[in-house]
Amino acid sequence: MARRDLVVIGGGTAGLVAAIGAARQGAKVTLIERARTGGDCLWTGCVPSKALLAAAAAAHTARSSTHLGVHSDHVEVDFSRVTAHVRRAIGEVAPHDSPERLRAEGVEVLHAGARFVADDAVEVAGRRLRFRSAMIATGAAPVLPPIDGLVQAGPLTTETIWDLEELPRRLVVLGGGPIGCELGQAFARLGAEVTLVEMEPRLLPREEPEASEVVHAALLVDGVEVRTAARASAVLPGDPTGGGGGDGSTDGWRLRLERAGAAGGARVDPGRGAGGSDSRGAGGAPGRARAGRGARLGRGGPRSLAPAPPPTGPSACPPPRRSAPGSAPAARCP
Ligand SMILES: Cc1cc2nc3c(=O)[nH]c(=O)nc-3n(C[C@H](O)[C@H](O)[C@H](O)COP(=O)(O)OP(=O)(O)OC[C@H]3O[C@@H](n4cnc5c(N)ncnc54)[C@H](O)[C@@H]3O)c2cc1C
Repeated sequence: MARRDLVVIGGGTAGLVAAIGAARQGAKVTLIERARTGGDCLWTGCVPSKALLAAAAAAHTARSSTHLGVHSDHVEVDFSRVTAHVRRAIGEVAPHDSPERLRAEGVEVLHAGARFVADDAVEVAGRRLRFRSAMIATGAAPVLPPIDGLVQAGPLTTETIWDLEELPRRLVVLGGGPIGCELGQAFARLGAEVTLVEMEPRLLPREEPEASEVVHAALLVDGVEVRTAARASAVLPGDPTGGGGGDGSTDGWRLRLERAGAAGGARVDPGRGAGGSDSRGAGGAPGRARAGRGARLGRGGPRSLAPAPPPTGPSACPPPRRSAPGSAPAARCP
């Protein structure tokens, strides 16, 4: 085969844009993708998360339009239909990122893993492909933070959260960046009891402080329990309220938090009443904690991953009260 002007490895957003852009300029382009074109954005990132947020926003609007004279006594979320909506959204966008679309743009698409075998050649499915330029657009993958017990808890990640078939009753999100905040808000608005943990003193630590304040306040209004300056140090099996916790089974999970930045760390023992706040009863699926790119989630049955008490000390933010539908917003943390 003739030497390609450009070989793109990875068919996510970056690879697609580069390949199509170069092809439109007349370059001979080959895109190599080992899984599905579309990458994270289509399958596990932007598209599903925005579809989830749309459903969550609809639930929120239905609950909070009393001031407009619109009363809805009871907002019910059918999570299976929410996930069907998410899948539909992916299905609508998928053709834009498909191999057919790429080929229509003049891009050759190969389905295989690629590896460099020379300065100007890659090997794809046993075939050597020479190029003038190559672009590596292989993206990123979720990484579990080194938290004791996290792996054993079977964490969900931003890749696997979309496989949930039931709305988790309780969810711990580790990481208060944009993805953690948006997923935390979405699941809270859909009815999950969400705790968002961020070890920096504020949410969205890479953004302006004013942006952090706005997002923090909005999350509190949505009933999210926000723990900033709190480092998750361990995931522990069992639940202090009983029902499977005492025997070390994985019937539920608890999260141990330490004050981030404090010398020695003020350790919080989640075993002291951590699960007591859960008034939703017992039973349900085994709990999970999830860790992912920027945002890490835990989910579980009613007793799973019961959040530890807030870090003690003057800056500890009391857990907000969940707003009942139509009631006043939960108290804001100063
Ligand atoms: C929950 C969530 C919400 C998000 N929301 C937004 C948003 O609203 N707006 C926004 O801009 N961004 C958002 N993002 C981020 C966005 O999804 C990513 O920034 C983007 O997908 C990265 O694209 P990429 O092409 O660099 O990598 P990827 O999408 O990861 O694509 C890399 C591709 O390379 C392939 N690959 C890897 N190794 C090889 C190999 N050796 N050979 C061949 N192929 C290989 C992979 O299979 C994959 O398809 C979100 C992310 C998440 C997780």
